[in-house]
Order: sequence, then C-alpha cells, then structure tokens
Amino acid sequence: MDNILTQQEAMLRSGQISEVDYTLKLKLEKGSQEYEGETTVRFLYNGGKKGRLKVDFVSKKIEILWINGKEETNYEKKESALFLPGELLTEGKNELKVKYKNVFDHSGSGFHKFTDPSDKAEYMHTDFEPFEAHRLFPSFDQPDLKATYELEITGPSEWTYIHNTVPKSEETQGNYKNIKFNKTKKFSTYLFSLIVGPYAVWEDKAGEIPLRIFCRKSLSKYMDAENLFAITKEAFGFLQEYFGVPYPYGKYDQIFVPEFNMGAMENVGAVTFSESYIFRGPRIYSEYLNRANTVYHEMVHMWFGNLVTMKWWNDLWLNESFADYLSYYSMSNGKIFPDALEHFYVREEWAYREDQLSTTHPIAGKAENTLEAISNFDGISYSKGASVLRQLMYYVGEEKFRDAMRLYFKRHAEKNTVLNDFLSCMSETSGIDIRGWSKEWLETTGVNTLSPVRQNGRLFLHQGPSATNGLLRTHALQASLFREKNGVLEEVWKKRVLVKGKETLLEENYTGEADLLLLNTEDFAYAKTYLSKESLPILKRSLHTLKDRFSRRVVWGSLWQMVRDAELAPKEFLELALDQGLKEPDLSVRNSHILTKALTVIDNYIPEAEKRNWSDKLNKIAKEKSLLAQNPEQEQILWFRILENTSKSPEQLSYLKELLDQKKSIPGIAMDQERRWVILSRLSAYGDPESSKRIEEETSKDNTDLGAKKAFLARISFPDPKTKKESWERFLKPKEGDSTDFLRYGMRGFQWNHQKQLLISYTDSYFNSVISVYETRDPHFASAFGHMMFPSFEPDPSLLKRTQEFLDQNKKLPELLKKDLQQQRDDIQRTLKVLEKYKN
Ligand SMILES: [Zn+2]
Repeated sequence: MDNILTQQEAMLRSGQISEVDYTLKLKLEKGSQEYEGETTVRFLYNGGKKGRLKVDFVSKKIEILWINGKEETNYEKKESALFLPGELLTEGKNELKVKYKNVFDHSGSGFHKFTDPSDKAEYMHTDFEPFEAHRLFPSFDQPDLKATYELEITGPSEWTYIHNTVPKSEETQGNYKNIKFNKTKKFSTYLFSLIVGPYAVWEDKAGEIPLRIFCRKSLSKYMDAENLFAITKEAFGFLQEYFGVPYPYGKYDQIFVPEFNMGAMENVGAVTFSESYIFRGPRIYSEYLNRANTVYHEMVHMWFGNLVTMKWWNDLWLNESFADYLSYYSMSNGKIFPDALEHFYVREEWAYREDQLSTTHPIAGKAENTLEAISNFDGISYSKGASVLRQLMYYVGEEKFRDAMRLYFKRHAEKNTVLNDFLSCMSETSGIDIRGWSKEWLETTGVNTLSPVRQNGRLFLHQGPSATNGLLRTHALQASLFREKNGVLEEVWKKRVLVKGKETLLEENYTGEADLLLLNTEDFAYAKTYLSKESLPILKRSLHTLKDRFSRRVVWGSLWQMVRDAELAPKEFLELALDQGLKEPDLSVRNSHILTKALTVIDNYIPEAEKRNWSDKLNKIAKEKSLLAQNPEQEQILWFRILENTSKSPEQLSYLKELLDQKKSIPGIAMDQERRWVILSRLSAYGDPESSKRIEEETSKDNTDLGAKKAFLARISFPDPKTKKESWERFLKPKEGDSTDFLRYGMRGFQWNHQKQLLISYTDSYFNSVISVYETRDPHFASAFGHMMFPSFEPDPSLLKRTQEFLDQNKKLPELLKKDLQQQRDDIQRTLKVLEKYKN
C-alpha cells in the first residue's frame, strides 16, 4: 500500500506551499457506484523549478488535468498521488484543475456509500481523519495546509446535501438539484464533510446557532432529537463562555450515518455520529451519559482541533486529550449529567490499561507517517492525556487553566500548533514551571502506583515507580480516611496531598488500626491506587455503608487495579462483588465496577475448572434478581444482560429460549428486536439444532441492515466446521458489496470460548493470513480482524510463545499489526501471571 504520507513529505510540502483554496464540483447519480468530480486547487508555490510536487489523490480515472490553465499530461500518477514536475509550476500563484471519475468506498471511510435494505434509500458520507480527504478530491492532505473550500454539487432532487456550510443557492431542474454552498472558513482537509441522502431532519436553535439533527428515514422512529438538542444547547452554553471565543462556524449539524467506524467525527459544523447512538431499545443511565459525552466531545473539537489544529499527527493529543477531558468537565458543570466526572473515572481504565502495555508511548507522541498516526488514536492520546490534564487543572487551579485555554485560542485561531505553543500559554497564565511538568507527564510513559503504609505509629503513602522507566512523579491528590463506627464507614478526614518521591507522610501520630484509607478521592490524580490488606475485612463488612458514591467507585476501581496486578485474589474480588457488590445502591457503579468486572474476572482470571461454577452463581443471582417485580427498568436491563451473558447450560439456555418465545417473561423486559438477536446468537453458538431455521424466520421479520448483520453474526456463531470455514474464507475474500461494517458483525460471532476444539486450527490460519490482511485491507477492517480473530479463546503459555515467536520472526510487520500483537502478548502475560499466582 502506498497510500501514505510521511511527516517528512508533509514538512517539505508545507515549506513549499501556502494560501491553499479548493473549488469542488461533484455530480452524483442514483443507483451508481461512481461519481464525477472537478476540483480546482489554488496555491502559492515557492519550490523552484526543480523536483516535483506531490498531490494526494485516489481516483478511478483522471479525465483531464490542467496546470495554470493549460492541459497537461506530463505528470506521474500513482495509486494514491499525483506528482507534478516542478518545471510546470510557477513561483507564486498556481492553479491545478482536475476532472475525474471516482468510485464510492465501502470501508466506512473516504466517501462511503450505503443502501438501506428496508427501503432501498441510498446514503453517502465522508470520513477523512487522518488521511482520506484525497479519496474525494485531489488535495494537500495534511493538517497544517489549512484551506477554504467552495463546493457545488449536482444530484437527485429528493436527496438532502449537508456540508460544512449552508447553501447560498439551490436550483431544481427536472430530477436534479444544483446546490452552491457558501465558501468555508479555513480549516484542515480532514475536517471537510459531505453527507448525502434522503435524511430525516429535526431543527432547533442554540441562541443564534441553527441546529439540525439527521438520521436515515428508516431509523427516524427511534430518534430522540429533543434529548440530543437539550444536550447540544447546554454544551454550547458552557463552551462558548468557557473558551471566551464564540462558536466560529455558523450552523451546527449532527448527522447519524450508517456503517460508521468510530463513535463520531468532528467535521466543521457537520458532526457525524455512529448509528449505534440511535437507541433502538431502552438503555441504562451510563449509556445515555456516554452518548451525551460524545456530543460534548465533538463540540469541544470545534475549538480544540478545528479552530486550532495540531501541526502534525504526533501532536494528536492537542485535539484528543482536551476533547476527552473537557467534555466530561463541561458536562459536570451542567444540569443534565452533573456526575459526569465519575464516569470519566471509568473511562480512564482505558488509559491505565494501555499505559501498562509495552506499546505505550508518551502523550506527546510521534507519527512518522499517516499509518502510524492511526495508531495514535488510542488510550494514551485520549484518556491518559485527559487524565493528566485533569491533574494539571487541579494543580494550577480551574481559573488559571481556563485562562490558558482562552489565551491559546486568541493567539492561535485558524492556525496550527505544537506542544510548545500550549506550554507557553499555560506558563503565562499559571506562573508555574510548566516545562518541568511537561517533561514529567507528557514526555514519559507509564503509571505510578500509590499505596498506604502504616509504620511505627505513622501513616504514609508510598509511591511505586512506573514499571517501564522507574520514574517517580509529583502528584496532587485527595486522600480520605474512613473509620467503621457501629457497622457504618464514616469519614474521619479528607485532605489535599502533594506527593513527591517515594514516601509522603499523611499522619504523624496515627493510632487507627481498622481504618480504610482511600487514595485519589474524586480522582484528581493519574495513578493506580491500592487499598491496604488490613482494610479488606472492613470492606467485606461495610463497603456498602460508605455514603459517598464517588468514594465507593474509587474503592472498586482500586480493587480492580489490584486484581489486574495480581495483588488481590480474583476469588476475593468475586466474593466481594457477589456480596457487598449486590448491595451497591447505584446502578452505574454496580454495572461498571462490579458486575461487568465480575464477568471479566470469571472469563480471564479464574482457573478453567472453576469458571463454570462462578458463572452459574452469577446466572442464578441474575435470574432471581430479575424476577423481583419492583425493580426499576434500568435495573432489569442490567440483570437481563448478566443473565444472557452467563447462560451456558442446557437449562439456562432453554430459559432464554422460553423468554424468546414469550412462554416466560421477565417484568419490564420486552422481547424487542435487539434482545431477540442477542438470544438467537447465543442459542446458535451453543449449537441449538433449531437455530438455523429460527435465524431464517427472524430475518424475514427484520428487513433492516442491522437485522442482516445480526443474522450474519448469529449464523457464524454456530459450532460447525463448515460454517466456520466458509465465514473465515469470506472475511479474507469478501463477496461483492460486503462492507467493512458487515464483516465486522460477522467476525463478532466467530469466536466463542466454549468452541475451543472447533477453533483450534484457526490459530495457524490466523498467523498465516494476518500480515496480508494488514497489508492489503483498509485499516478498520484490518484492526477488527487483528483483534477479533486473534485466538484469545486460549490464553495459555503456548499461545504466548507462538505470538512472541511470530513477532521475533517477522521483523518488518506493518506497524499497526505489530502494535496489536504486542498488546495481545502483554494481555496474555498478565492473565497468566494472575492465574499462576492464584491457581490454588
Ligand atoms: Zn475526538
């Protein structure tokens, strides 16, 4: 694959080129897999007559190319670029014009086209980050060559056309519409957007800003636009004031598009979202909160990312860390989700996990090319960066932090920035040695571990170095001491602590013995925190009596870190979860920190022979609890999910079947389409002889694309060699029209832990084919294949050895594959360490 841009090429080009603007004309037809384009690129050039200029461009056919008004054929065309000889260019103003034909993409990125099977409606959307704009038009596709865009489009009159700006004119002639959009402001190519199709629309306003929401017609019955508008308005209300710069892009559209690869994308004024955020059934609170968080996150990007953009992808964190933190922070200042920062604590598990893998990197990272840039969209650039910003805000104070943001936008609006630009603003407003801080936090890797120590009548906090580099850091955090009184945990004190070096004194004349010392109350620090062994008996008695919900969260979060680090026996965690955990009054805490963790512990950290026993216990609890009629709906959703997830025995499965056939029911749990597919997949995976017929029947009732995808998943789940073989072959050689999204659904059904015997031969197939998948397929498919097809049903020493050997023998693996495999290896290592320590 030569579809790549290196940092060096980009630097060279931004030295040669400036003042770029694009004029685009596109023509779309119904029922066609192709479209026509004509792009004019104007730019200033100072590269001399020597060498050649690279223009990024993937196209099916170039019809005519003009340079400065003259038709030219003397250029080189590669798969993903045009090279213009320097002698054809003038010093100063130049104009490149290309007339071309192109085909739509089906990978979810580029210019993706999708046909809705339920009504045959056609939908198209662009998705360009980090390096895909040149799939639609010839461009200098790098973030620091910001440009303006003027789009004119002709296409079927019944379609809606959504772009970064609003139309200035619209004319209908026969079955066609011609729309000329207003010229955009200056922004990077990856933020350009065009969304087309017979979309359903909702309208509102946030002050003077016109708001619109779009989704496919066939999904409009599920759209809760009112709720989304309320969140959008709240977000605008806070962010415009907070950043001290009014929203710069006029209107604000949010479009839910089919087969989207990520959660959402912050195109200027036209944010695209995954349809998984259109809830087709009831959801729990944290899922509504996460969706709202995505709305906030993308809006933060209008400033962080769109108005001020990182110069190159190595500074991706300047976009993502800020969006990731400020979204939760802003929400916590609003009325709809004031507890957002507690959910930020859940999100940070992503950072802690990745920062302990060998593949971790400094927050201020590196990206030698656009493929490496993709691998920076990870738990470090997003979540660790966000967590460290929260720590910084606590350290310098909220106002000074805010003032630095304001200064940053004022100084760098419409420009590109690097790490130092951010540091300068922060130094100026905070008056602290921000460069030292940056070295410690942004330019190193790894996480510290903080644990309480009682010694000679003194209470200490001990800091452990991060495993990768032995580094100790300065942390500002809160610690709380709780004491058990009449069976209830009560707070004795809470203090702000500055941790430096190995040991920090918390209390001089410490007399307590049976206390609970909680580190990182309210989660200001980026550190793993442990609980002392002495406090475990207290937790077993009284954890649920701890009044403060956030503190209970941090207790469970600390226990989880200890399990993963082999510092707490998985069985002890499970015992606590199935006792104190069931008394946890808050559903979000119970879901995120207790029940889903219990499932993970059973799947990963419990010896094979005991797994079933624990799973059965959980299944029994879920069944009993779900039949308590007085439960609120939210609680029922949770219990049903656990019940479904732990159904393995014939008896448990036949109960699911009875629910499916509505011979039995759970109060408050409707057998909606989503739940029907979930049960069908499970029955199929456990070899129910009727499953094939049932999937057939269900498909005839559900003619949506999601129905087709879930039926595909359910079929592939069936434990039969022929099914597995055929699906494997289809992943490697897709049928015409198989989109990345469709195949991704199929891959979800391929591996089930209990199908080990059947799947064992695919370990060889995986290692034999994975390189070519990463070399030839789109990155989203490759990464889904890499993760979901990895033989993780067998985390034993032989798989560890095999993975390591593969890495050793193939020194030149594609970067993304190398990273994915190293992470798999590290995960197995961690699992084996826990299993080994607690095998008895
Ligand atoms: Zn983002």
